[in-house]
Amino acid sequence: MAAERNTDIVVVGGGAAGFMSALAAAESGAKVIIADKAKRPLMKLRISGKGRCNLTNNCTDEEFFDNIFRGAKFLRSAESRFGPAEIMSFFEGLGVPLKTERGRRVFPVSDKASDVAEALIRESERFGIMILGTEVRKVLTDGKEVTGVETSAGRIRCRAVVLATGGRSYPGTGSTGDGYRMARELGHTVTDTFPALVSLRCREDWCSEAEGLSLRNVVLTCSEGKKTLFSEMGEMLFTKDGISGPLALTLSSVIAGRDLSKLRTAVDLKPSLDRDMLDKRVLRDMNSMSNKEFKNSLGDLLPKSLIPVIVRLSGIMPEKKVNSITSEERSRLVDLLKKLPLTICGDGGWNEAIVTAGGIDTKEIDPRTMESKLVKGLYLAGEILDADGATGGYNLTIAFSTGHTAGTAAAKRIMEGDKPAPAADRAGTKDTMNAIAIDGPAGAGKSSIAKRLARELGYIYVDTGALYRAIGLSAIRSGIDVHDRAAVIGLLAGIDVDLAYVDGEQKVLLCGEDVSGEIRTEPVSMAASAVSALPEVREFLLDLQRELARKNNVVMDGRDIGTVVLPDAGCKIFLTASPEERAMRRYKELRDKGMDAVYEAVLEDLKKRDYDDSHREIAPLRLADDGIEVDTTEMDLEESVNAVLKIAKERLGI
Ligand code: C5P
Repeated sequence: MAAERNTDIVVVGGGAAGFMSALAAAESGAKVIIADKAKRPLMKLRISGKGRCNLTNNCTDEEFFDNIFRGAKFLRSAESRFGPAEIMSFFEGLGVPLKTERGRRVFPVSDKASDVAEALIRESERFGIMILGTEVRKVLTDGKEVTGVETSAGRIRCRAVVLATGGRSYPGTGSTGDGYRMARELGHTVTDTFPALVSLRCREDWCSEAEGLSLRNVVLTCSEGKKTLFSEMGEMLFTKDGISGPLALTLSSVIAGRDLSKLRTAVDLKPSLDRDMLDKRVLRDMNSMSNKEFKNSLGDLLPKSLIPVIVRLSGIMPEKKVNSITSEERSRLVDLLKKLPLTICGDGGWNEAIVTAGGIDTKEIDPRTMESKLVKGLYLAGEILDADGATGGYNLTIAFSTGHTAGTAAAKRIMEGDKPAPAADRAGTKDTMNAIAIDGPAGAGKSSIAKRLARELGYIYVDTGALYRAIGLSAIRSGIDVHDRAAVIGLLAGIDVDLAYVDGEQKVLLCGEDVSGEIRTEPVSMAASAVSALPEVREFLLDLQRELARKNNVVMDGRDIGTVVLPDAGCKIFLTASPEERAMRRYKELRDKGMDAVYEAVLEDLKKRDYDDSHREIAPLRLADDGIEVDTTEMDLEESVNAVLKIAKERLGI
């Protein structure tokens, strides 16, 4: 019987997405095997960017998404976690210095794609990632979850699989589209795939006459019926049977999968002159060379190899004297220069295509984790996905970004699987991935920002501090010492704390009594902080908080929401500000409510609470590993809300 191996994660496919996911997973502590049937990994990366490897584009988020043809919305979350900036620092961190060239294209300073490939391989060795030159034939499941893979050299048991087998482009490098079959066998939908970023074939025979001619600053336009699908200025090249160069490649992605017979394509050879201006210019030229033959009169207007073509297409006799050309004939010539028609009838095929358009339907994949919605433990990354972009490093960015997201999430699944949540906690409930967790010290603006966020997004706001405050209040009322653990535990046995919503506003109920106003005093703050350090108190409130997040989309604020209460929350924010600024805000708040307050005393209390909250043994206040810190010291409320809203939208892909 063939050998059976065991690991945490198998990454199928040793390309850009596969390596990035393997490294992200290994960095999070998982044991990873990369399996690829190719003898040498990273083959396509080695030849990408003409062997120089244009590994990302140094662009803003907005520019990035402007250059994505399919899957932009799906990619938002992954790109916000691991986008161009992160990719650049990742490779620089591996000792590959980078440079940014024209069009913000990022290359290794050495201009050698092999340096990028070798750095990835070295890093994998450092993490002990095993690279197997074995073909994976099937992903094994128990009907619900991944259990392993079947390879040409036996089975590998594992708890997560990242399918990063690439698309169909460049089959010579090993990309044969096996991954589509395996994903299909697991129930996934594969949309039709088409070669993209590929040269285009045209019906016009004359293209061969212009073969090798490169035109700069022309406009290529393509429309379908009344709809303009594409119209861009740039560079294009004639080939023996059609067009290539940047404009043609981009157009090929735009029209991938469309009915070519419905398309109308044309080149504007003189885009800087409108029709009238061009007509005048042609007339002027003709007047200055009235005795020349037509075929010899176009030297100033056109590159040499296009002259015979345009002469023929114009229908004007080549030997005709320029001064006898009629205005109708001139008009035909001007039309041609402004709208040289091309009839696209095909493309350069998979051997030439830089990337694949189409692939695994992204509706079946969670954009925050790249995990399949159909099979637990199956992750998909890179070109196999129905997502693609322009030339300029966008497609490698997609590979690295989705790869990193998949690897991180797969490792998280493994690590969390080691300490499963109690069954009762999971039964019949929705996950809490849509939740927004806002943690941070007192006075950082959590509640004001969270409330606004909830309103903007139609979520409900849950202020968990109010729950601890209710217990603090109950302790004060009972006259017990808040530091007396036994007394507080005894208190819990006899009380009931709940939240209710009246007109969208949260009310805190202590044994049915609305204490929402009474809990907002300094003594209650201090009491809440003291009781919150007790594990029994935290346990007492945990179910209630989780329950709320399972039943509703919540913005939940507190101290341990992202780290303990909702570790799956799709968006985790850590709000902070300097203690002085926070004390001043709290002081003003108390004064506005007509309460007596002394700034120095508020500051001192706040510092003590900060210390206690972040030094307690259980659920201390800290930034979640996947949280984002936002410092609001210098921001007003509006700016803070906008900053947090932006992060939330990116993280949740909404
Ligand atoms: O947020 P707020 O200031 O109302 O919280 C009061 C106290 O409750 C905090 O100082 C903290 O000690 C405790 N708390 C907590 N965990 C939470 C929310 C509040 O320990 N999730």
